[in-house]
Amino acid sequence: MTALEHCDVLIVGAGPAGMAAAVAAAPSGASIVVIDDNPVPGGQIWRDGPGATLPAAARKWRDALERHANIRICSGTRVIAAPARNELLLEDAERGWRMQWKKLILCTGARELLLPFPGWTLPGVTGAGGLQALIKAGLPVEGERIVIAGSGPLLLAAASTARAAGAKVVRIAEQASFAAVAGFAANLWRWPGKAAQSVTLADPQYRTASRIVSAQGGSQVESVRLLQGGREVEIACDRVACGFGLTPNTQLGRLLGCALTAEGAQALAVDARQLTSLPDVYAAGECTGFGGSERALAQGAIAGYAAVGNERAAKQLEAERARWDAFAAQLHRSFALAPEIKQMPQPDTLVCRCEDVPFSALADCTGWTDAKLHRRCGMGACQGRVCGDAAQFLFGWTPPAPRPPLSPVRIATLAGLASEVDARQ
Ligand SMILES: Cc1cc2nc3c(=O)[nH]c(=O)nc-3n(C[C@H](O)[C@H](O)[C@H](O)COP(=O)(O)OP(=O)(O)OC[C@H]3O[C@@H](n4cnc5c(N)ncnc54)[C@H](O)[C@@H]3O)c2cc1C
Repeated sequence: MTALEHCDVLIVGAGPAGMAAAVAAAPSGASIVVIDDNPVPGGQIWRDGPGATLPAAARKWRDALERHANIRICSGTRVIAAPARNELLLEDAERGWRMQWKKLILCTGARELLLPFPGWTLPGVTGAGGLQALIKAGLPVEGERIVIAGSGPLLLAAASTARAAGAKVVRIAEQASFAAVAGFAANLWRWPGKAAQSVTLADPQYRTASRIVSAQGGSQVESVRLLQGGREVEIACDRVACGFGLTPNTQLGRLLGCALTAEGAQALAVDARQLTSLPDVYAAGECTGFGGSERALAQGAIAGYAAVGNERAAKQLEAERARWDAFAAQLHRSFALAPEIKQMPQPDTLVCRCEDVPFSALADCTGWTDAKLHRRCGMGACQGRVCGDAAQFLFGWTPPAPRPPLSPVRIATLAGLASEVDARQ
């Protein structure tokens, strides 16, 4: 039988939102458990590793978590399923167990939107955030020529990480127009910290209205073709990193039955207290829409306070949250993907790279389920995490709510759960 543990507040995700939620809830004395599938807290922005230099803010939040004896951090822990009301099935490297909670705060962040183009499956082509994560995990890139393409400020952050690791960033191709990017920069005075950051990230290789056409190479990427100001250019390179913005990570929320926002980015819907459509389930950070770490911190703290009944403290943070909501809205407006991005895949470009499903095989499908049943799109190892987002962008298909298990799981964990269900019956 799997062990059963209890806590007052369970927080899924130890990025900025989860950390802020835990620290806000802690003074109440509630028993708090924070789980995250990464080896250490920090989330995407403060990802640790042999090639990472942690900023002071990340250390500050980690220290704050450690100061509270009623916060327990379970790193390297994944959510497998929701076997009963107010209960999650968890697994780490050693065991599987069930965790019963009174309040749940989902801080599951976002993932990169990866879109298919000819050559995107070549070795050496990764996501922009993916390249960052690889470098922080110790991938040597010294002396390599890197092209970064796609959209949004993450391209500049990835370029900065690559340069700091000794790579030569030969081009940053931003699909948004010069006017859109200039408009974004002109508005940054409203968020002085972001304005200062943008100066440090400025790069002479940055080009607007520039989008990827294809990547070429044999056993490894060797060059990339870009459409730049209406002209095609080819650039020799050793690596290509592409990111087309972020997409909220709503898997767990949807599995539980949380409603999504009606319009826009398919994020978890929350009210002013960060409460989802389910009683006792809150959500904070980029699973409610992407908008940066400051917004995630403000939302996380509000959710943490609200979950332990400290409504006054939660209310005091509403103005701060609104400030960062405005930043998020500006970000979305300025870096909206141009319709031409949908023309990147050619008929033979693989959309589902796990099951080798080309774009042409999906063109006449009526929706996600049709594509899944008749073309095996989304049936592979990533379970639609990559091609599902791409298909949503390319064809407007919304994948249905995920089914358990949420990630690959050991038989022993599931077997323990089955014997528990038998015992209950
Ligand atoms: C790949 C990537 C790289 C990024 N790099 C930068 C950057 O360099 N600079 C920057 O300003 N912003 C960056 N961002 C944006 C950044 O994610 C946010 O601004 C900020 O980290 C959001 O905080 P969060 O707490 O909402 O989510 P995250 O920081 O994404 O934290 C969510 C955490 O939840 C965990 N998690 C999710 N689901 C589960 C589950 N089912 N079980 C267990 N754990 C789970 C994840 O592993 C993650 O650690 C990046 C985003 C991505 C996707």
